[in-house]
Amino acid sequence: PVEYVSTPIREQEQIVGAVVIFKDITERLIIDRMKDEFVSVVSHELRTPLTSIRSAIGVLSSGRLEPKSSKSQRLLEIALNNSNHLVRLINDILDLERIKSGKVTMLKENHNAADLMTDAVEIVQSMADKAQITISVTPLSVQLWSDRDRLIQTLTNLLSNAIKFSPPHTTVHLDAQLQSDGTIRFEVKDRGRGIPPDSLETIFDRFQQVDASDSRDRGGTGLGLAICRSIVQQHGGQIWVESILGQGSTFCFTLPIGD
Ligand code: ADP
Repeated sequence: PVEYVSTPIREQEQIVGAVVIFKDITERLIIDRMKDEFVSVVSHELRTPLTSIRSAIGVLSSGRLEPKSSKSQRLLEIALNNSNHLVRLINDILDLERIKSGKVTMLKENHNAADLMTDAVEIVQSMADKAQITISVTPLSVQLWSDRDRLIQTLTNLLSNAIKFSPPHTTVHLDAQLQSDGTIRFEVKDRGRGIPPDSLETIFDRFQQVDASDSRDRGGTGLGLAICRSIVQQHGGQIWVESILGQGSTFCFTLPIGD
């Protein structure tokens, strides 16, 4: 599709010609369509928890239930869980948009990769204990020019996914290697349910989940991997996943060690 502007060329009040400028607007139309899709997905994602909150509060405010009854408690729990989910969702949407649009710049400093790895493991340790999953970490002592908080956020997102999608009594591995091209390769490896081949790339897009119930049942927002990808790209690195369905997944990302 094209858009054009035309300007007549006049000579002594007579139109003797015209300059016409054609502009290819394909890219703009694609961006407009992506925005429309995003707004419709976001409204759906927001409406679902809001509807649960509204109906729970509706029943509670009708006065038909004893305030201390187990049914009332259950409705309060539903309203609270869904409110928490909404807050997470809105924070993730804002966070992703800020990183993608470059509104937050990465605060890069020299950090030891080993410290980032052990800090990330510490954050998810209690979640792993609850799920009866062992985390095995092999810290790599290399200086890395990076935004500490954002890298820890990336590692904890990947580790918590690995924990969420693995059965009890399995081990999640966090490793890193220095590669010959001067990048560090981080790996988060699980023995969980794995990812089907046709989802290996799409799961890094916003709100893409292998199973529609993944977000509801497991408390995710479907934005974690999109946030990881934006952070890694802002560091000049790449992220991808290798997986065999039913056997486990390995999420890998590379980062240049210095600027
Ligand atoms: P969510 O908040 O749903 O975890 P993510 O963007 O982090 O959102 O992940 C998107 C989807 O990718 C998940 O819902 C799940 O379907 C799939 N996924 C992510 N990590 C794993 C993993 N380690 N094992 C299996 N599936 C995974």
